[in-house]
Amino acid sequence: MTSKKDKSLFGSLFNKCKNTKADQPEMSQDKELLICLQNLSSICEGNDRNVDHEIAQFKKMIKIGSTVTELQNQIITITKAVTLSATLPENNKLLKLFKQIPADIMIDEFINQSTSIKTTISLQNYRNSLSSNVLAVSSISDLIELFQSAEDSPVHTVESTASPNITHEGIQQVTSPLLRLFSQLELSAEQDEHLTQMHKRLIELKSLDDLTLFLEDASLLIISSISSSTNQFETFLIQLRQRLDIVNNCITSNEAISKVSENFSLSMAEQVSDIKLYFKDVENVHDLEILISKSLESITDHITSFNNERKSLEEESAKTIADIQHELKQSQIETDYLKDHLQQQRNKALTDPLTQLPNRHAYNERIHFEYKRWRRYKKPLSLVIGDVDSFKEINDTHGHIVGDAALKQTAQIIQKNIRGTDFVARFGGEEFVFIMPETLPIEATKGVNKIRILIQDNTIDEGNANFKLTMSFGVSNFEEDDTIIDVLKRADKALYRAKSKGRNQICVQRNNS
Ligand code: GH3
Ligand code: MG
Ligand code: MG
Repeated sequence: MTSKKDKSLFGSLFNKCKNTKADQPEMSQDKELLICLQNLSSICEGNDRNVDHEIAQFKKMIKIGSTVTELQNQIITITKAVTLSATLPENNKLLKLFKQIPADIMIDEFINQSTSIKTTISLQNYRNSLSSNVLAVSSISDLIELFQSAEDSPVHTVESTASPNITHEGIQQVTSPLLRLFSQLELSAEQDEHLTQMHKRLIELKSLDDLTLFLEDASLLIISSISSSTNQFETFLIQLRQRLDIVNNCITSNEAISKVSENFSLSMAEQVSDIKLYFKDVENVHDLEILISKSLESITDHITSFNNERKSLEEESAKTIADIQHELKQSQIETDYLKDHLQQQRNKALTDPLTQLPNRHAYNERIHFEYKRWRRYKKPLSLVIGDVDSFKEINDTHGHIVGDAALKQTAQIIQKNIRGTDFVARFGGEEFVFIMPETLPIEATKGVNKIRILIQDNTIDEGNANFKLTMSFGVSNFEEDDTIIDVLKRADKALYRAKSKGRNQICVQRNNS
């Protein structure tokens, strides 16, 4: 191995192997070379045909047992091939690879190689600033160049106490990659002003000490630019988080979203996968910011238009529901009214207007109902016909109006004094008919007699008229195969007998009697 220290990246890798040997004296030279080969292969292989060829050559040389000097020369050849490859614009894969190498590892290599404390400090500062920032990774190749130039410049060793002058070309060689690096940074107005000052200072740089101070300043500017970029990025992330929260709230508060609109769900899924793609493809944070912002705006637009559409649909539905409810309410009112009206009409149709007793229609309904029950259960069922005695005379004596009043009062006495289960109707004229369920003729006679006495004792006091009236009753009951007409006829027959026998009395007519 030559005594000259190789300052290239690969040289440093090789030197590292060599240094390792110092710590581990038992390590063989073959082992050193193998590690070196691994380092080289892991970084370079597969990216450039020429570089691959030189690495293959290097492997072959190790196999056939070439000398260390030959191997060292081959490393330099590989270094040149890599540099050439990296500078070709159409084939910059290797340069990209450089950029992908973790920055701190790269800078460690340079710190290992550094012969100046100041350079080492600058490198360490720069490494510290890089640890949390992706921007600097992309600029690492520039930095490699910068510090290689610094190290390659005329003697500035740990032992050196003087500060030798350096040429303008030397300064340019050192600073031009740095200026290129600055052009990639995003600077605030203040930092930009600082950079202008530094450009002025460049012209005045004379000694290596000046250059070192300048480089320290430059590293500070880089650090401050990076930290402001970091702040900017952090602000963006906070805003992104807030906006995602809004989007999330909007989605979770609208559970129906995915159910209601398939298109909407698809669109949302596309937007989300787009965001993921952006994260994958975009190297520049600002591009990422723009793309994500656009995507979020698109999501927000989708949600807004969906919400508007849904809101107007809801409003429409709410209006329709309100209309239907109103219609229903109106219908309900009308139905209730019709029901009442119908009931009233029905009551009217079944009620005698003069006496307010059920009329003959009501009687017909009721007698059919009770008849059916009697046919089924064969329980006693009596039928009574009552007739006001000599009512024609009353009319003739007192007039029809008084006659009406007399009928009204008589009807009230009857209605008040029948049992709750009994039924009475005005059959027509001055005739009344009683239906008495669960009642034998003898019981019916008893009940009717009570009424008869009440009527005979009652005084009709209407206008100038003041008189009493009586009623006769004919009682019968349902037996065997009786029809309604059969029983009615028998009751009428009984009534006729009561009249014949002198009125104000009750006669009973049983079947076959
Ligand atoms: P009887 O004792 O035999 O039953 O004799 P009556 O006079 O009561 O019988 P009749 O059938 O001869 O007369 C019944 C009368 O009842 C005739 C009719 O003008 C009268 N009448 C019928 N309906 C009404 C009514 O609503 N109001 C009035 N004021 N009179 C009526
Ligand atoms: Mg009569
Ligand atoms: Mg009569």
